[in-house]
Amino acid sequence: MFRSAGYLARSVSNLSIKSKPQILRCADNSSRVIPSSCRSTAASPEPRQEPAGKTLPNTKKEASASAQGESRSFAMNLFQGKIATEQVFPFPEVLDDEQKEILQMLVDPCAKFFEEQNDALKNDAMEKIDDTSMQGLREMGAFGLQVPQELGGLGLNNTQYARLVEIVGAHDLGVGITLGAHQSIGFKGILLFGSPEQKTKYLPPLASGEQMAAFCLTEPACGSDASAIRTRAVLSDDGKHYVLNGSKIWISNGGLAEVFTVFAQTPVTGPEGETKDKVTALIVERSHGGVSHGAPEKKMGIKASNTAEVYFEDVMVPVENVLGGVGGGFKVAMNILNNGRFGMGAALSGTMKYCIWKAVEHASTRMQFGSRIDSYGAIQEKIARMTMVQFVTESMAYMLSANMDQGSTDFQIEAAISKIYASEAAWFCADEGIQILGGMGYMRDCGMEKVMRDLRIFRIFEGTNDILRLFVALTGIQYAGKSLKELQKALKNPLANMGALTGAATKRAKRMVGLGSGLSLAQHAHPQLNDSAEKTAKAVEQFGATVESLLMKFNKNIIDEQFVLKRVADSAIDIYGMVAVLSRVSRSLEQNLPSAEHEKLICEVFCDEAAERIQQNLASANSRRVHKNFDTLTKISKNVVENGGAFQVHPLGY
Ligand SMILES: Cc1cc2nc3c(=O)[nH]c(=O)nc-3n(C[C@H](O)[C@H](O)[C@H](O)COP(=O)(O)OP(=O)(O)OC[C@H]3O[C@@H](n4cnc5c(N)ncnc54)[C@H](O)[C@@H]3O)c2cc1C
Repeated sequence: MFRSAGYLARSVSNLSIKSKPQILRCADNSSRVIPSSCRSTAASPEPRQEPAGKTLPNTKKEASASAQGESRSFAMNLFQGKIATEQVFPFPEVLDDEQKEILQMLVDPCAKFFEEQNDALKNDAMEKIDDTSMQGLREMGAFGLQVPQELGGLGLNNTQYARLVEIVGAHDLGVGITLGAHQSIGFKGILLFGSPEQKTKYLPPLASGEQMAAFCLTEPACGSDASAIRTRAVLSDDGKHYVLNGSKIWISNGGLAEVFTVFAQTPVTGPEGETKDKVTALIVERSHGGVSHGAPEKKMGIKASNTAEVYFEDVMVPVENVLGGVGGGFKVAMNILNNGRFGMGAALSGTMKYCIWKAVEHASTRMQFGSRIDSYGAIQEKIARMTMVQFVTESMAYMLSANMDQGSTDFQIEAAISKIYASEAAWFCADEGIQILGGMGYMRDCGMEKVMRDLRIFRIFEGTNDILRLFVALTGIQYAGKSLKELQKALKNPLANMGALTGAATKRAKRMVGLGSGLSLAQHAHPQLNDSAEKTAKAVEQFGATVESLLMKFNKNIIDEQFVLKRVADSAIDIYGMVAVLSRVSRSLEQNLPSAEHEKLICEVFCDEAAERIQQNLASANSRRVHKNFDTLTKISKNVVENGGAFQVHPLGY
């Protein structure tokens, strides 16, 4: 099997390469209203790794929209109460025949490898990936899925990558993290920002798996707030090296890697001669000397992956190893994370399929009280809900990867939403799956116990979901704020701006008398999904109106309203889920896919329930009564923190 997988990897690399990879750049989307703590693990995307052999239909349009301060992103426009359909309808399809063929050649051997060769429970027990598995992964080309073929990788685009990591996620998240830490973050910076020389030097041994990579950002005092790093690199006297000192914690592959993308403060002299520390990204080799690591961390899950502290002591890093320019490290870090998030959605979509399969296998054979347990409503609801959230996750992940492959550079909100949704949906699936399995689910041999342990970290790393929610809400609100500012500007000279004012006034006036502002998805969604399409359009309208009123109420102080921002983000997540599902199921119905009727059921329930949640969240965000509760919750929290824990008098008095 290994030989055949290796052979396939080589055959793929022998297929034609139509175009050389190229880096695209778009204007920087600075985050004025977002505090650094909330930007720190999210980003506005800048460079994009262009997949080999693809045309990028959206790039030109997007560049022109971005030059005018406009966005083509569905999620971004949502915040202005607009429906931008270009990226979401029809459901994007990006693979040409050759790319599909390549992918099909890889899917089966990859699945077979995980089914027959890799032993997830053994890896977990050993707290490392078995050597034979590691060798099998190398032979499959799994360490360089997106590295261009001429540099030794498989040259896959994001959609192809997503399909393969979905298989990994379904079988072994420990392996998934090892591969992800290596290519999704470890050397992603070299792919995105590397010079031709850096790529030629570093990518071939990394793509073959001969060397491993790691991403080194987190430090003891710097977690979500990435700008707080203390690791420092100063120029040597001869100006040829940066001398790097500091340490990083919880670095995936930290004990295995030969190549590290390290973020360090470097002194940067500004135009007026003042010197300030700024974050710079450096490619550091273990062979530079002065690099060491701690013992593997003992973790709750993803035990097969290596997590370790990494220390840098007077490491002499050549100046040509700066990645993305001196002082540009923060942007490099954020873009690496942003570019990698789609993979998490795809991988966890695979994990959820595994959970559903395990639950169904048990529920359809287990007899209790004289009947199979899948005949009981309580179990049916669980299976249906697990299926629904898996479907939403999958729809989001592939819509996002396709948008990226189409050339979108404006996908940061969608990427954050996909990561949040996937990690929470997967947790829900594992939990409900174990519940369906009963005591069996709690047993190690069943496999679900490991999945649950493995999954917990996904809500924490690569941007905690809490920080990403703030990022989603504030990035969108900032965009909405621009249009409000323009309106305020127009009001200063109403005669010259009558067109803009009439449009805005009509929209508001219609809203005030209870008429919709005319938003509709009817011409995009399949007619059988009219009801869901209407609910989605209405949700967008309510969302835009709520964001506007929140902006008027709080102005820039909105950044401190985390209770409100959470509800705004939750609504945005639900709306993106609605549109992803609506679009995908419309396509399934149009193409008369065998699962179209089943998908329609999912779409109907998801959109109906999401619409209700959105209404409730938006009402809470604007409700005085609920705001009073927010204040009270703050008081409760403060009381508990001041007293060091739950301090109420015990009901028994002692
Ligand atoms: C297994 C594992 C692997 C990892 N791999 C890597 C790796 O390869 N490379 C790497 O660089 N790092 C890695 N990390 C680190 C990981 O990215 C961080 O744990 C994560 O960024 C969160 O930082 P923290 O743990 O310091 O939490 P903190 O930032 O201290 O946050 C603690 C809590 O406070 C919340 N919080 C923080 N700030 C705010 C705010 N302003 N408003 C509201 N809430 C807030 C957070 O959401 C969270 O709930 C790994 C961690 C683990 C556990």
